[in-house]
Amino acid sequence: MIKLTRQNLRTPGPTPVPDDIMDSMSNPMINHRGPEFLDLISRVTEQLKQVFMTQNDLFILTSSGTGALEAAIVNTLSPGDKVLSATAGSFGDRFIDMAVAFGADVERLEFEWGQAVDPDAIRRALADSPAIKAVMVTHNETSTGVTHPLKEIAAIVKDEFGKLLLVDAVSSLGCIPLPVDGWNCDAVATASQKGFMIPPGLAFISFSADAWNAQKTATMPRFYFDLESARRYLERGQTPFTPNLTALYGLSKALDNLLQEGLEDVYERHRRIANYTREGIKDLGLELLAWDEAFASDAVTAVKIPESMDGPKFMRLLRAEENVVLAGGQGKLSDSIFRIGHLGYVSQEDIEEVFEALKKVLPKVGFSAH
Ligand SMILES: *Cc1c(COP(=O)(O)O)cnc(C)c1O
Repeated sequence: MIKLTRQNLRTPGPTPVPDDIMDSMSNPMINHRGPEFLDLISRVTEQLKQVFMTQNDLFILTSSGTGALEAAIVNTLSPGDKVLSATAGSFGDRFIDMAVAFGADVERLEFEWGQAVDPDAIRRALADSPAIKAVMVTHNETSTGVTHPLKEIAAIVKDEFGKLLLVDAVSSLGCIPLPVDGWNCDAVATASQKGFMIPPGLAFISFSADAWNAQKTATMPRFYFDLESARRYLERGQTPFTPNLTALYGLSKALDNLLQEGLEDVYERHRRIANYTREGIKDLGLELLAWDEAFASDAVTAVKIPESMDGPKFMRLLRAEENVVLAGGQGKLSDSIFRIGHLGYVSQEDIEEVFEALKKVLPKVGFSAH
């Protein structure tokens, strides 16, 4: 058996798991076609709806977040459907790649990595192409540490144009406010290992009446992620396939904790810690990747690696000498930024520890902090 010691894991997923949630996951296996499971799935589904702030249908899938994103696409679209997809980072790009893989005709609306999506550009694109059926958007772009203005985007997509809105909320739900019904989002996908502070292995998706309407004629191939099948099974308190029971035990405890802390307080904690992180980074003389701090994410902070600094050595020393694990950049930013995750199970002390470590390591890798 491998035995790893605890690190200050500051990646934007997986996040650390609190001890009481770890304990809850030592429950025994149960029959997923039995009464205990019916109780469990009914309870956590209702609690999840509170966190999503929705009365739409909500499904728990056994997969990583990408499975729920795939479900959003294949249950609403047909090959050849025209969709508009805004991207400003690697998760926005991946959402597009998935839609393309299933045969959608994707119009890409691209922004610089570090920029926020401009809602006006979405308005213009929808006005120019009436054939567009759906708009795909990433709420919080984890690869750049930018939160896109989803509320404004949703108002345009839904109120002005009446199109479907598919949202990647993998790193925002449970961290940053996303009132699914308040903003009228049709399909909203997220995952267990980010804001929910439980291990990877579960994904969640809310599905609106408009989404079900689209589902009736959607012909993209689907089997494992067929939400019609998920709906039929959920009516009987089951899932179509064997669920990740262990993660569900953790989810049940995590939802108790989140709802007890109170969603407003959870958001406020993320806001406060993100602010503390950004101020600390600037005080060191480092620069944020986000072009406009008003859109800087409350879940993850992306920091530019200065020319003088040895990035790989920096990450290695932080981990080996200080027990602090940060994330590197993704895609074209892989050598030019590092990222500090402050989502899910995070306190200000965790970030204070990160700064103590940064102050020790930065001078060893060619950067003199202010
Ligand atoms: C983490 C993440 C994903 C991918 O989720 P997986 O659970 O790895 O499949 C997708 N989108 C965003 C915005 C993410 O942060």
